Amino acid sequence: MKKQELLSLSPIQFISFLESQKIKKFFFVYDSEKKKLAASHPQLQPIADYFLNDKRDFIEHEGWFCKISEEYRMLLGAFVHRTNRGQAAGGVRYWSYDTIEDYFRDGLRLCAGMTFKNALAGLWWGGGKGVIAYNPRYDKSNPEIREKIYKDYGLFMSSLNGCYVTAEDVGTSVQDMNNVFSGTRFTTCIGSEFGGSGNPSVPTARGVISGMEAALDFLKMGTLEGKSIDIQGLGHVGEPLVQFLFEKNVKKIIGVDINLSHINSAKKRFEGKNFVGRLVDKNDISIFSEECDIFSPNATGAILNQRTIPNLKARIVCGAANNQLEDMQKDGELIHDRNIIYVPDFLVNRMGIVTCANEQYGYVNNDSLIKNHFSKDWEHSIYNRATQVLKESKNKNIPSAEVALRLADKLSKENHPVFGHRGRQIILSLAENEWHLK
Ligand code: NAD
Repeated sequence: MKKQELLSLSPIQFISFLESQKIKKFFFVYDSEKKKLAASHPQLQPIADYFLNDKRDFIEHEGWFCKISEEYRMLLGAFVHRTNRGQAAGGVRYWSYDTIEDYFRDGLRLCAGMTFKNALAGLWWGGGKGVIAYNPRYDKSNPEIREKIYKDYGLFMSSLNGCYVTAEDVGTSVQDMNNVFSGTRFTTCIGSEFGGSGNPSVPTARGVISGMEAALDFLKMGTLEGKSIDIQGLGHVGEPLVQFLFEKNVKKIIGVDINLSHINSAKKRFEGKNFVGRLVDKNDISIFSEECDIFSPNATGAILNQRTIPNLKARIVCGAANNQLEDMQKDGELIHDRNIIYVPDFLVNRMGIVTCANEQYGYVNNDSLIKNHFSKDWEHSIYNRATQVLKESKNKNIPSAEVALRLADKLSKENHPVFGHRGRQIILSLAENEWHLK
């Protein structure tokens, strides 16, 4: 089959193609010296060549591994971008894809994003992401199916010898992670009954506060006291964020959500405070044109784009939602040109991965390793990194997201002080040992 035909197949059709070739597991591994991306099977080499020449999503990823699930014909994938700082870490997503190309691209983009988020957070972890392309023929929420798929995913993790350590992500719950944990030691974000760190949304909301404070200081606008804040999304992060903001004596908060129960819960919790909760339709962008000091996106990605940025009235945008800029370059430039201070999402929303990734180091009261992220004394703290990025963005007249990316890229190439670039060695060993045939 030609590469375009292969790439336009749906994940299910691609699985049928693999089965016709008697392929159950496959990988793509990058040779940084020869600058070649090798596929485990010659039939898949056209895909490797295609991505090698893709300047947008393939950024010398060390490798990615996939297998067909034991049941339900789903594709389990582990994408590894860069492991200089340590094993690749990032969550596993349970999602549906129209084509196998979309599936690969999502994995490649997401794992590179984790490289940058982890490096900027000063974590000794590389960047990785898991992606499970679920089979739409089966009920996504069926607990029995989920149990089998995630247990299977755990065994898949074990087979990868630790080049990637997984975690919770969109579409995946703590219960799913417990199932993954039954098959592997290479996971985090498990339930607290198994030694996991629990829901990270509250520390994530605190991280957003640090980012807001850095932006206000940068603009010499004083503290959060007396400011008006608009929040999109009152979920796990948005609701505690409202709480923290009122503790900082903000003047007014407008919160919008598409889910009535989240609006009602926030209205009840913040009764007596100057909180306005509004139910909106998912395409409603009126919140962008509200007058406020800070706009905080905490719902979905790609909400900062050519349609919404021109309407923004806020001086600062700072929130936890992943991938807020629809187009990193174009939209990053637009927001920069409008002189709106954008605190990059991957800088402020790190606390989820910070708390999960360090689970194996145990827990102490007032953990200084967690508190460091909220301090002004540690070079990698959210406040200090945000300040550094905003200053450089101004001095060099470069969008803040680009500055943060460049800094993260540099940091991500530092080798782990103890283990060096071991993740890469693991990947090469898997390829040498013909992982795909085991
Ligand atoms: P969540 O699902 O609990 O909350 C999201 C909220 O946004 C929901 O209440 C949902 O109804 C609402 N929403 C969805 N679309 C909307 C729209 N168009 N307009 C208004 N509201 C809308 O998720 P969360 O855990 O609070 O995470 C929020 C964002 O932050 C996500 O993008 C997530 O990927 C990111 N993030 C979260 C964490 C964490 O620790 N939870 C860490 C890093 C990044």
